[in-house]
Amino acid sequence: RIAYVNGRYLPHAAAAVHIEDRGYQFADGVYEACEIFEGRIVDSRRHLDRLDRSLAELRIRPPMGRKALEIVLREVARRNRVRNGFLYLQVTRGVAPRDHVFPAPETPPTLVVTARATDRAKANKAAEAGISVITVPDNRWDRVDIKTVGLLPNVLAKQAAKEQGAKEAWFVDAAGNVTEGGSTNAWIVTQDGKLVTRPADHGILRGITRTVLLDLAGRLGLTVEERPFSVAEAKAAREAFITAASTLVMPVVRIDETAIANGHPGSVATELRRRFHEAAEFLEI
Ligand code: PLP
Repeated sequence: RIAYVNGRYLPHAAAAVHIEDRGYQFADGVYEACEIFEGRIVDSRRHLDRLDRSLAELRIRPPMGRKALEIVLREVARRNRVRNGFLYLQVTRGVAPRDHVFPAPETPPTLVVTARATDRAKANKAAEAGISVITVPDNRWDRVDIKTVGLLPNVLAKQAAKEQGAKEAWFVDAAGNVTEGGSTNAWIVTQDGKLVTRPADHGILRGITRTVLLDLAGRLGLTVEERPFSVAEAKAAREAFITAASTLVMPVVRIDETAIANGHPGSVATELRRRFHEAAEFLEI
């Protein structure tokens, strides 16, 4: 495997950043993860738009222009010969002697890009069975709309899910409403067939998969409500599912101890998973 680190393509095992990188010391950085589907990068334009926004919110200098970044993404995918898998891209505020305040403005940001192949058949099998989620209090900061590498609450929540035999943890706010998953957005289908997902305010990450799915749902004539939903409403829903570039549409068949409907993936989630790429944009590798 090959990784890109600050201008160089290196063997994955030899790729490294400095111990005083601010990503390492302060989680002072942002990231993106995009799907590679059948040799094409999925929705890179939207991912790079979101990256620009995350960088601007944190006042981190973009490491390079859009066109150059697209070349690096394609090159990393190509050098790793990934036809189906993921690209991971991380930008930090760079390397400087440890001090909370920003380093000198000329400090170059650190850019790392890696690629990894995934087993699509295995993912599709998981989707046929559906997954379980647990619910945990949302104890994160109030700017989780910024895709930062500061993911400790998400790490702890997903580990708790794993220890309870579940694949994802849904964060629940003080009002009892689901915000999102540890690394996914959360959706339900109501008993009367409406798709419901939380509005993209500062309380959730505006998932690219979420945005594309809203578009697809509209094209398919489904009714969508962007509003908060409670854990109780989710447990009584006809269907539930999660979305992310890593899982695409993944049916949820159990929330805590409660089976959703008959405990099998619902038809809406299954159809949306099957058709997801119809609404996606592609960049050839
Ligand atoms: N919410 C969180 C907290 C995430 O980390 C992610 C993806 O990593 C998502 C939602 C889904 O976003 P996307 O569809 O862009 O992958």
